[in-house]
Amino acid sequence: MSDWNKRTKLVHGGTRRSQYNEVSEAIFLTQGFVYETAEQAEARFIETGPDEFIYARYGNPTVAMFEERIAALEGAEDAFATASGMAAVSGALTSMLQAGDHVVSAKALFGSCLYILENILTRYGVEVTFVDGTDLAAWKAAMRPNTKAVFFESMSNPTLEVINVTAVAQIAHEVGALVVVDNVFSTPVFSRAIEQGADVVIYSATKHIDGQGRALGGVVLGTKDFIRGTLEPYMKHTGGSMSPFNAWVMLKGLETIDLRVRAQAESALAIAEALQDHPALARTIYPGLASHAQAALVQKQLDGKGGTVLSIDLKGGREAAFKFLNALEIAVISNNLGDAKSIATHPATTTHQRLSDVQKDELGITPGLVRFSVGLEDTQDLIADISRALEAAQS
Ligand SMILES: *Cc1c(COP(=O)(O)O)cnc(C)c1O
Repeated sequence: MSDWNKRTKLVHGGTRRSQYNEVSEAIFLTQGFVYETAEQAEARFIETGPDEFIYARYGNPTVAMFEERIAALEGAEDAFATASGMAAVSGALTSMLQAGDHVVSAKALFGSCLYILENILTRYGVEVTFVDGTDLAAWKAAMRPNTKAVFFESMSNPTLEVINVTAVAQIAHEVGALVVVDNVFSTPVFSRAIEQGADVVIYSATKHIDGQGRALGGVVLGTKDFIRGTLEPYMKHTGGSMSPFNAWVMLKGLETIDLRVRAQAESALAIAEALQDHPALARTIYPGLASHAQAALVQKQLDGKGGTVLSIDLKGGREAAFKFLNALEIAVISNNLGDAKSIATHPATTTHQRLSDVQKDELGITPGLVRFSVGLEDTQDLIADISRALEAAQS
């Protein structure tokens, strides 16, 4: 399997067949597993083999298939599936840190990631320094002898800054810190974060891995040592494991993710190109555009692929943004992303509402900013819908 290409791994990786030899992966909706004898139960609690399970909070065959499939895709030694993306982020960080440790984090973060770093870890004696993730000198200056981890979104939400994984990893590794990357916006299809120096990669599977807005899930990828030695004991005792049903949804999602995400990214680029000189817009942000502030880095890190999300900043601020959202006929107003359905979000009043005006300003979350997650609809239909809604926003 290790010499299969990505698309083949996504369809066949990790498959375990029961005695019925089913073609499509089975959902093992069971929380427990029967031992033949008391001696077998005792032995399994001492050492659990690869096809042996104890309790679904520790592991389950459907969940294991998902973990193996995504680990193969990502080129990671191992993976642990979690109940949501946030269970993955909090589990990865909490399991590796203790009081007295220091973390350096990019400040442009998903709201709940920011909450964990700012409000939870600090409560337990972990110090956190926030830096501008695109400023390598700031990363370097923030490192201390007790810096145990750096954390960042490799492509930030919602302003789509791209962070240099290789360069930040080099800086972090000089002080022995682990590099933890929330890789949702870069997507498992385009990112090669592990190869580029990340030690731990996290996905919210709720986004592109499901890709059809059905179930919550997350996954942490890394070395066998980290996943089984550090993360698993924490996750299995604190209860953030993925349900077998959700694992099955995610497993089937992986079979089509390459096709879906490539089609969505192609559409996103066409939409961004159509909008980039639009008179109603102050900015069109899409990492795949030649005009993106870090276009060269996008070339190097993501083979020029800008992902499936673009952000537009409407002249006329919040009023124009709201008129635009209300005039859309195809895209829905919601806050998921990576879905087959296009989704438009007004970050300043929803996902990033909690931030102060100063923080919003710093992060470029202006009143006119709309995040647009491109779905699988026809590209020309989406361009027509957006163009019409932009006209409505100006009236
Ligand atoms: C959605 C998201 C999360 C959280 O994932 P959930 O599955 O909603 O818990 C974390 N980080 C990023 C970048 C996200 O987009």
